[in-house]
Amino acid sequence: MNEFLSRALGMKEEIVRNRRTIHQFGGVGLDLPETTAYVMERLREMGLEPVEICQSGVVCCVGGKRPGKTILLRADMDALPIEEKTGLPFACTNGTMHACGHDMHPAMLLGAARLLKEREEELQGTVKLMFQPGEEVLEGAKAMVNAGLLENPKVDAAVAMHVGIGRKDCRSGYVTYVSGPSGSSADELWVTLTRDKDSEVNLVDAACHMILGLKDLPSLEIRINETFGLMINAFVCDNDDPAGLADSVTFKGVMICMNDPVRNQARDRIVTIVEELAKAHRVQANIHYERSVAPLVTSKELGDQINPAIAEIVGDGNAEEQPLGFLSFGAEDFAEVAKHVKAVYLNLGAGCPEEGYAVEGHKDNVIFNEDVLPVGAAIYANVAYRWPQDQA
Ligand SMILES: [Zn+2]
Repeated sequence: MNEFLSRALGMKEEIVRNRRTIHQFGGVGLDLPETTAYVMERLREMGLEPVEICQSGVVCCVGGKRPGKTILLRADMDALPIEEKTGLPFACTNGTMHACGHDMHPAMLLGAARLLKEREEELQGTVKLMFQPGEEVLEGAKAMVNAGLLENPKVDAAVAMHVGIGRKDCRSGYVTYVSGPSGSSADELWVTLTRDKDSEVNLVDAACHMILGLKDLPSLEIRINETFGLMINAFVCDNDDPAGLADSVTFKGVMICMNDPVRNQARDRIVTIVEELAKAHRVQANIHYERSVAPLVTSKELGDQINPAIAEIVGDGNAEEQPLGFLSFGAEDFAEVAKHVKAVYLNLGAGCPEEGYAVEGHKDNVIFNEDVLPVGAAIYANVAYRWPQDQA
């Protein structure tokens, strides 16, 4: 058996304890004081020197004693604003819940930290551990990159891991990843229409024309082989006189895309369509377009390079590249790291319906298989140990 795996299995109790403690902290967005303090304390106990480089964003390096490349391992650690209904003895009671497994991730990465620290003298290059907040709100990775995550030492490759649950492709210990465009961007649009006080123009009519114009965009202007989606998901009228014309109308949209140039082209056309139709209808349009997270584009080269190190932990046939669409995730803010360095995003199965785990992530009663925690820790460690050696 692989040395990291046997050691990780021996540490299972510690990894599970860390997971359950972080689970009880919960916490959403960029404000995770208890989780951050806990993670940093555990790392210090191992003799490491974690640094909080931005709010609840922790970086910790292992190795660096021998020259070589730097590989980054990422664990996100924010919960969701969900009232937990699992009935587990360690259920979170503060109205937040780790329903996406972002408690499993830091527990596995803490496990990997110990595994790597124990063999630090052997490490070629540096392993940089990234404990990030705010994945669910798509802000944490960008904040950490802006705070210097990828420098000192400069990161050469990055690997993120996420547990998958409740689907048949999530059998425990089965690792999958997609190469190339594998997660969408997520941008938001707010348009507010107003009219001159004494004009008789109907803002609802104008807004409806704009929405239809925007809905035509994918079919008329985006090439059929590109993935672009536009959804209008809110429409609000402000009306002093309920029987009269609206004084202002606001609608909100979400755009997803798998390719940055197409995303930019679509943004320009969206703004033009709204501006020109506003002129045609003699209304004022206030347009707010927010670019949230980039499309996630991962590296086939890196996937091929680290595959043997993963297979060594989970067994041949249990570490597989899959076609796009195999994994169902939308926007993932690891894209902000993958934009700058070659990266792979691993899905680690943590329970499928045949194993008794029928509830998917983001549900208030989802339960994860904790048996995969040592496996995840060993995957992180083995990849980070082997990749810089293979590159030397
Ligand atoms: Zn998640």
